[in-house]
Amino acid sequence: MSSALPEFWRLSEELLELVGGKCKNCGKINYPQRKICASCGAQGNFEKVKISRRGKVHTYVVAHALPSGVEAPTPIAVVDTDDGARLVGFVTECEPDESKWEMPVEAVLRKVGEQDGRVNYGFKFRPIRLNRDAEKQRSEV
Ligand SMILES: [Zn+2]
Repeated sequence: MSSALPEFWRLSEELLELVGGKCKNCGKINYPQRKICASCGAQGNFEKVKISRRGKVHTYVVAHALPSGVEAPTPIAVVDTDDGARLVGFVTECEPDESKWEMPVEAVLRKVGEQDGRVNYGFKFRPIRLNRDAEKQRSEV
């Protein structure tokens, strides 16, 4: 466990630096980065930008059949970040029937699956709950 921790934090830096390509023509952030803007069709005219980890659920589905290592049923959401990028990922720390349109979420590093005995990490979306955040602030004081 202790030997896995440094790797975990190294990965967290890479994975949670959510980096996309901001189109210099229309300003839309494309994620993942691509050669042609999904919004205006401009080609190869991007700058790398760090994407906000906070956003709101645009839409979602509840998946009942998933690859091994992923608990089902689990919601999969399309999230619009505060800075206008659109991301897709699993929702965590949330009951399937708790997901809502416009639900505020934040991207957090979590296990996303297992392959050949190795655990894969990636970002998932966690609901931003006011009660939990208030409790966290009280415990940090
Ligand atoms: Zn564009």
